[in-house]
Amino acid sequence: MKFESLHDLFVDELKDIYNAENQLVKALPKMVKASTSDELRSAFENHLEETKQQVERLEQIFKELEKSPKGKSCKAMKGLLEEGKHAIEADGDEAVCDAALIAAAQKVEHYEIASYGTLRTYARLLGLDEAARLLQETLNEEGNADKKLNEVAERINLQAQQPESDNEEAESTRDQSEQMTDDKDELIVRR
Ligand code: FE
Ligand code: ZN
Ligand code: FE
Ligand code: FE
Repeated sequence: MKFESLHDLFVDELKDIYNAENQLVKALPKMVKASTSDELRSAFENHLEETKQQVERLEQIFKELEKSPKGKSCKAMKGLLEEGKHAIEADGDEAVCDAALIAAAQKVEHYEIASYGTLRTYARLLGLDEAARLLQETLNEEGNADKKLNEVAERINLQAQQPESDNEEAESTRDQSEQMTDDKDELIVRR
């Protein structure tokens, strides 16, 4: 890539985030399915709809610039989503798995916030006012998505911190005899 002007860099970075957003349109439905908390699921569903709008905003900018949106593959987003795949495929404690999904999603949002902040600033410097406005709109959505995930995490991390048995204290007392039987079975297996 040869950067002769800030405009060249602007277009190159736009292509990068365009590809990243399209990767997210494919990944977010998997995050929705993997969530066990209703609150988290609806946060992802909501951000999926926003993400589709963000793709359209970028297409609008490319149209005005008379440039193709294609031609770049965002390796950073590919890597973030590869890591996120571990959270999607994880099983075990539901709250801990949800906490892992939130952690992965916030890394994605922060990447997007960095990208859109830069792009918005370039657009302003280049006098591309409409592009700057559209990029600011998306930047605000990414910021709000991150804040929403913080709110959900406040509850889910607390649940994740408790062992699953603690969440069902009443039940565990009632089932103590059963548990003892289980322990004995385990001893037999070990021998
Ligand atoms: Fe986005
Ligand atoms: Zn990238
Ligand atoms: Fe890193
Ligand atoms: Fe986002």
